[in-house]
Amino acid sequence: MHREDHLRVDSLIIGAGFAGMYAIHKLRKIGLQPLAFEAGNDVGGTWYWNRYPGARCDVESMEYSYSFDNDLQQEWQWSERYASQAEILRYASHVADRFDLRRSIRFSTRVVAAEFDLATDLWTVKTDRGDVVQARFVIMAGGCLSLPRMPDFPGRDSFTGKLYHTGSWPHESVDFSGLRVGVIGTGSSGIQVIPQLARDAAHLTVFQRTPNFSLPAFNRTSDPKAQAWHKRHYAQRRERARYSAGGIAGHPLAQRNALDVSPRERENEYEAAWHRGSTGFIRLYKDLLVNHDANETAAAFVRRKIQEIVQDPAMAERLTPKDHPIGTKRLCLDTDYYDTYNRPNVTLVDVRSDPIEAMVAEGLRTRDALHQLDAIVFATGYDAVTGAVLAINFCVRGGERLATKWAHGPRTYLGLMTAGFPNLFLVTGPGSPSVLTNVIAAIEQHVEWIADCISHLQETGVQRIEADPAFEDDWVAHVNELAASMLVMKANSWYMGANVPGKPRVFMPYPGGLGTYRMKCADVAFKGYEGFALSGQRTVNPELIVSV
Ligand code: NAP
Repeated sequence: MHREDHLRVDSLIIGAGFAGMYAIHKLRKIGLQPLAFEAGNDVGGTWYWNRYPGARCDVESMEYSYSFDNDLQQEWQWSERYASQAEILRYASHVADRFDLRRSIRFSTRVVAAEFDLATDLWTVKTDRGDVVQARFVIMAGGCLSLPRMPDFPGRDSFTGKLYHTGSWPHESVDFSGLRVGVIGTGSSGIQVIPQLARDAAHLTVFQRTPNFSLPAFNRTSDPKAQAWHKRHYAQRRERARYSAGGIAGHPLAQRNALDVSPRERENEYEAAWHRGSTGFIRLYKDLLVNHDANETAAAFVRRKIQEIVQDPAMAERLTPKDHPIGTKRLCLDTDYYDTYNRPNVTLVDVRSDPIEAMVAEGLRTRDALHQLDAIVFATGYDAVTGAVLAINFCVRGGERLATKWAHGPRTYLGLMTAGFPNLFLVTGPGSPSVLTNVIAAIEQHVEWIADCISHLQETGVQRIEADPAFEDDWVAHVNELAASMLVMKANSWYMGANVPGKPRVFMPYPGGLGTYRMKCADVAFKGYEGFALSGQRTVNPELIVSV
């Protein structure tokens, strides 16, 4: 007998990170009794797994937090401008306690398959622990950056030292003192972990494939007066964030083009923005993400900063990004990143000119050298946006598999549903703003839209909703057109799937901004869920639904 053989629930949520947690709360509010499966043994999602030294958010704490409950946002005190992983995890735990979420979650349980039956309009969901659960609605809340990616270097198993991935870090603290440590990758995670490891390790070797643009975070302890001010103005600030492009009230509302101001004025603005320590840098001017020449003014400014900070000109040159416009890969925020390369115990290996050939017992062999290492940290990122979705075998009984449908790239309507897979909602799915925004703001918008939609279905007695393929085609075309009009297509980024060999090159998130997207989704709902087919009358006896 399976753990919960043939349990039937009204709604099943996959994941108990920030998306899944809010989905539980919101679905309860509309009278449902959701059940969630979570692979970790507690809540927090990305903040549960990413425990590497230096992990912290690059959105300010006052904004990277839930807005749905005023008491919650008033009572929680953030200790730093940019919260550390540990603090965000404490916050997630507090939210779980405060709203009694854990009673709806089965931890240490990974969903492996989900099959929709067109005859009953029910999903059958299976887990790696043998659970088989039927659900009317499935809400995929497994996160956009939750499937860590380890490049498959030859000889990986022969390395005798310790291996780590930033996205799946041990729970106990790891002592690197006295060790020779290698870090592969210089994205947001690498840029955060490298300065920490350089301080602890005897020697640190950084294996860099693509230099990235990074700005100093100027993180600091929270100013109580500023926090109190923020809390007094939360209502307006949150509303502004909701209708902003990036889901962040504190980002500048660009009024002018970079190319319309004098070089001196621009330089002064960049200098001031550099010292503000925020990814809002890239939103200073309207044309920065659409016009190459405009972008180049900002990129050149940051390149000069790198040359100023890094003392060895050859090292500075290798750290200077030249192959993509600034902001087309995720702009990083750091603490002492470039300065770390002034330390005598840090070596930088450019793996484009000196590629990694194999892992060997003693360390890493590149074409030109053997790097002897006691530990290797993979900061090599994720199979982003679609990875966690496709890790589950979603299919329709006797019909298509989602992996087949998305073989040439994800296809969704509004990033919320994918045609042919009824009653499956995606939170921050491909085709939605998700990773291009403050993701908590994006999550709240999605969960609220989904809850309103399910509420509407319940009230009208409809038991099946699915995206119309024609509307999906139009949405996919619209996202592609928007991306094509921007510089984002000029980078080999994970937004494009470029970091995963063989993954289709499709710009996955919606780049039109959260505010615009929110209005579009609201309009669709207002028009009676335009572009969705609503069908079937409820047949399931509510008494069959088990309390969880
Ligand atoms: P990432 O941005 O994908 O960076 C992965 C790094 O590993 C890149 O430098 C990549 O080089 C390198 N790499 C991958 N495969 C490699 C290989 N075979 N050989 C050598 N190098 C290889 O991943 P991430 O740093 O984990 O960040 C992912 C996203 O998570 C971020 O963009 C951000 O959205 C989020 N994040 C946010 C924070 C924060 O809030 N502060 C912190 C961490 C992560 P290429 O560039 O050449 O592919």
